[in-house]
Amino acid sequence: MSALSAIRRSRNRPARPDTDTSGHRLLEVSGLTTRFDTPDGLVQAVNGVDLHVDRAEIVGVVGESGCGKSVTIRSILGLVRPPGRVVGGTAHFNGVDLLTLRGAELRRLRGKDIGFIAQNPFSALNPVMRIHRQFRNIMAAHDPASAGEVRDRARAALADVGIAGPGRVLDGYAHQLSGGMAQRVVIAMAMLLNPAFVIADEPTTGLDLTVQRQILDLIRGLVREHGRSMLLVTHDLGVVAQYCDRVVVMYAGKVIEHGSVRDVLTAPRHPYTQALIRAIPRPGRPLVHLTGRPPDLVDYPDGCPFRARCPHAFEPCGHTVPEPVTVASGQTYRCHLREDGEVGL
Ligand code: SF4
Repeated sequence: MSALSAIRRSRNRPARPDTDTSGHRLLEVSGLTTRFDTPDGLVQAVNGVDLHVDRAEIVGVVGESGCGKSVTIRSILGLVRPPGRVVGGTAHFNGVDLLTLRGAELRRLRGKDIGFIAQNPFSALNPVMRIHRQFRNIMAAHDPASAGEVRDRARAALADVGIAGPGRVLDGYAHQLSGGMAQRVVIAMAMLLNPAFVIADEPTTGLDLTVQRQILDLIRGLVREHGRSMLLVTHDLGVVAQYCDRVVVMYAGKVIEHGSVRDVLTAPRHPYTQALIRAIPRPGRPLVHLTGRPPDLVDYPDGCPFRARCPHAFEPCGHTVPEPVTVASGQTYRCHLREDGEVGL
């Protein structure tokens, strides 16, 4: 399905409420702020990000490369390494602030309660260790079992992700697998301990189009079937339209719009979201590229970070950071322009 037709279909989908009225919130991130000390200066990679994921919900995080999507999820998972550091915010998962946990406590949660599917399966898999040994290591860290039991569970996990002949894969190495097969192995490892929550960081990067859809269908099936929740990072609005319930749009390390997929993709409020949607190829129409580049995160601009690329920018955008505005449906955006033509300051 094309990105455009996926967005059109999302119009017919019922919108999920954007406020938690039933105590079903699984992850609540608030004010998340991450910096990188580099020779060029302090990179303001993530700037006060707020987002949440409810139980049995799939939330997409979308934006161009370098807008802070991956650093946000790595910050939540405690995977930011020096020179990066999380300098502010909270990330409550099941009521526990992940940002206060030490290494061993976080490792216990990752894998058992939170499954992580990384962008590049070949960097997630150990190239010099047989696959079955890697399954054994996961089990040993969280749920020790006999060698026979580990093998049975690994075979079942590989069968669940559609790998025929799992015994052969278990006895082999990562380099013997195609990209799609390697990502299936990583997905099987992420789901092995039945986590309630899955974080997938652009899980189909580098795969061909047909395999991409198979992998995304597979992940969605494993999430929906077991009532899991997922945070899915992607740069593709078509993926958001097809696979997610809600969407968070990021720009320059900030959330600039969020809401139900139906609301955000069919009635985007922020000029950046509107530009991303206009940039989707449409039959018979010339491409409307989003011109310009995101701002330098070392020399972070005053006011609205989208100002230099925004066709609607006006005087206040240069000095006043837009506050979030929430409309009746729960859709929230950060822009000084209002739909009714008023200027909100
Ligand atoms: Fe454009 Fe101003 Fe809105 Fe930023 S605040 S998106 S520059 S109109």
